[in-house]
Amino acid sequence: MFDWLVVGAGFAGATLAERLARVRGERVLVIDRRPHVGGNAYDCRDAAGILIHRYGPHIFHTNSRAVFDYLSEFTRWRRYEHRVLANVDGKLLPIPINLDTVNQLYGLRLTSDCLKQWFASRAEPVENIRTSEDVVISQVGRDLYEKFFRGYTRKQWGLDPSQLDRSVTARVPVRLDRDDRYFTDQFQFMPRDGYTRLFERMLSHPGITVKLSTDFRSARNKAEFRRLIWTGPVDEFFQYRYGKLPYRSLRFKHKTLNQVRLQPVAVVNYPGDTPYTRVTEYKHLTGQVHPQTSITYEYPSAEGDPYYPIPRSENQALYKKYEALADGTADTWFVGRLATYRYYNMDQVVGQALATFRRIEETTPRWVGMQRLATASQELPGRHP
Ligand code: FAD
Ligand code: UDP
Repeated sequence: MFDWLVVGAGFAGATLAERLARVRGERVLVIDRRPHVGGNAYDCRDAAGILIHRYGPHIFHTNSRAVFDYLSEFTRWRRYEHRVLANVDGKLLPIPINLDTVNQLYGLRLTSDCLKQWFASRAEPVENIRTSEDVVISQVGRDLYEKFFRGYTRKQWGLDPSQLDRSVTARVPVRLDRDDRYFTDQFQFMPRDGYTRLFERMLSHPGITVKLSTDFRSARNKAEFRRLIWTGPVDEFFQYRYGKLPYRSLRFKHKTLNQVRLQPVAVVNYPGDTPYTRVTEYKHLTGQVHPQTSITYEYPSAEGDPYYPIPRSENQALYKKYEALADGTADTWFVGRLATYRYYNMDQVVGQALATFRRIEETTPRWVGMQRLATASQELPGRHP
């Protein structure tokens, strides 16, 4: 009998499993239907021996010291600041849009002071900024919007930016200076030995048992557990009672090239009419030295594994119905990007998992203690599936 069944060995599941086993001394079974730990952050060596991310580029960045300190218990870090170029009008230009982007695209020599005016003269006033289109055109105007955002977003989401919540394109800022970093967070690193190694360390506690290639459907009847952490899609847990929640998927094409380098930065975005959105070259992220180089093309797709919740109001309304079911499900906690239908980065998922753990600590007696008490009174409370 396990005290907990944790479904999903990604950041949400691994964080909770680690805390429950290490802090509370409880016995935890972690299952994942994939044949590996790490969820979407999983990395591995390909046939050429190059460390790649099977599910697309994962760059760790956070402003949370608590999250950084927590993960630092399981990895050492490699300093890395992410830079991205966009392939626009045959040029490779910095994205987020900054002073150099505008000067190089239009052949100008603006200064930061002039750029503010320049944007203001092109921006379209939007009274109520609601959509992903509003966000961009109200800052930089229609031409830059069309060149950098419209095509990319239509490909990535299968929707026009005007149909998506503003939070989506608001992830990418606009800058007046020459800062060409993708993120400005205080902590920006890559795990020195890779993400999978980090997960292996998180899960290597004697109180944790990991079973891979195991789906909840098959495990729920066999495994005995008292409480449940669910990090899969929330609609799946409730057997799609209110219909399917839309998630966006991706197809990854991994390739190894017989050359040392392909592109000047780790990620090049393609907002134009290629079927893929971006190309990632991993050696920039990992610092690996190798005579060949491995890259990944991302092709967005409606079918396939769920990777992105799709932020728009009707989806949020449907999620709220599932959330109400989740709130009413005893002895079960829903955590992570798929289970809480939030477009969260890794650090936000770890933060959410640590907060969930604190709530568990406040509200849920440790099983070890309860068991002793209950055994004494011959009454075993809790879940017996
Ligand atoms: P997941 O990693 O999805 O883990 C959930 C696990 O549950 C999966 O392994 C799944 O197999 C398992 N599961 C689901 N249902 C079942 C079931 N029924 N039975 C058994 N197992 C089940 N974040 C960043 O911070 N920086 C980045 O650069 C970044 N880049 C990204 C790029 C891409 C292409 C994608 C898709 C995401 C990116 N993210 C990035 C987000 C990051 O992947 C997530 O925030 C994080 O991995 C979510 O962790 P999770 O545990 O919630 O979910
Ligand atoms: N985006 C865009 N062009 C770009 C980069 C981003 O249109 O060159 C939009 C697109 O809608 C994307 C969103 O901004 O989905 C968020 O970008 P981010 O790089 O954060 O996406 P993620 O890494 O989560 O896929």
